[in-house]
Amino acid sequence: MRMNQNILISSLTTMRLGGPARYVIEVESPADLQYAYNFAGLQHLPTFVLGYGANTIGRDEGFPGVIIINRMRGISEIPTERGKVRLLVMGGELWDRVVEFTTSRGLTGIEALSRIPGLAGAAPVQNIGAYGQELADTFVSADVYDSTTHSFKTLVKSEFNFGYRKSLLNTTEKNRYFVVSITLELHPGEMPRPYYHSVEQYIDDHNCKDFSPSGLRTIISAIRADKLPDPLERPSAGSFFKNVYLDDAGIELAEDKGYPVYRGHDGYKISSAWLIEHSGLSGKLIHGFRVNPKAPLVLLNESATSYADLDAARAEIISTVYDKFGYWLEQEPVEIV
Ligand SMILES: Cc1cc2nc3c(=O)[nH]c(=O)nc-3n(C[C@H](O)[C@H](O)[C@H](O)COP(=O)(O)OP(=O)(O)OC[C@H]3O[C@@H](n4cnc5c(N)ncnc54)[C@H](O)[C@@H]3O)c2cc1C
Repeated sequence: MRMNQNILISSLTTMRLGGPARYVIEVESPADLQYAYNFAGLQHLPTFVLGYGANTIGRDEGFPGVIIINRMRGISEIPTERGKVRLLVMGGELWDRVVEFTTSRGLTGIEALSRIPGLAGAAPVQNIGAYGQELADTFVSADVYDSTTHSFKTLVKSEFNFGYRKSLLNTTEKNRYFVVSITLELHPGEMPRPYYHSVEQYIDDHNCKDFSPSGLRTIISAIRADKLPDPLERPSAGSFFKNVYLDDAGIELAEDKGYPVYRGHDGYKISSAWLIEHSGLSGKLIHGFRVNPKAPLVLLNESATSYADLDAARAEIISTVYDKFGYWLEQEPVEIV
């Protein structure tokens, strides 16, 4: 276990914003984890669970409590029925190492989630998704620490209420559970076609022939590398806005106006990237943030040093899109408060 004081949140998050956290405790065992929560409890300090910091924004005032980071790593196979493979993945494992592990064994289920930055313990929080797959497709359960009862327990998939970028961990039970490990179930095979439009397009353009899990991982990695800069080189928090989901009336209205409506995992949506691009914001530098021209949902932090810059950039983008299209964009990354 490692405990440090007054660590800048900007150094722990990929957007590179945020003042000091009073304590940061990196836990390497369940006993460390209990210690960390007891420590915070005894001093009446709030806690915040952090992973890789790829979907989290720090504020200038920092955090007056204890940030706890899962450093428990490892991937192991659990016996299960024939034809399926169950994996127990410790929450401190890098997510992309999990995808590499499964694809190199010919297992399908998470190959389209290649190169998503973050730790495995954070993956169920917003039900990570990309290119037609989402974590919920392979998720079985999670072993968690319950900070209200101070006990360890297992939560099964049905308890998670997974949806688009949501689960019980970021809705009804926000900040209650610390994910120690997750269990996934995959099987040998290939992801069914047709793939996402951009993936099919890449396959045509590059005459790709290998659609095995590792072949698809190579394709997805190339597509992502082209439009999503490595956040360690160009700071960002990935997609800064969620897509806009529509009800029946909303679908009709959008179609009447000629806006492109897509079918998502749990309903119909308009791509917020399309809305931002067609509001003329693509490529613009707004209060230190570049609207990524190749993926307009991503704000690249080029020169912003304070949360106030982000606040101003976010307000400008949201109001520009609202004035043009009448849709209110919602932020995806979490804030440490
Ligand atoms: C360049 C880039 C591309 C991205 N692409 C995608 C994408 O394609 N699809 C996608 O879905 N996301 C994407 N993201 C967002 C991000 O990668 C995911 O949300 C990822 O799961 C975040 O993991 P993390 O470890 O960084 O979580 P953090 O940002 O550290 O934490 C995110 C949330 O999870 C909570 N949390 C973290 N660890 C735990 C734990 N052990 N127990 C309980 N709660 C925990 C935190 O409290 C916080 O609420 C992208 C981000 C970047 C920077």
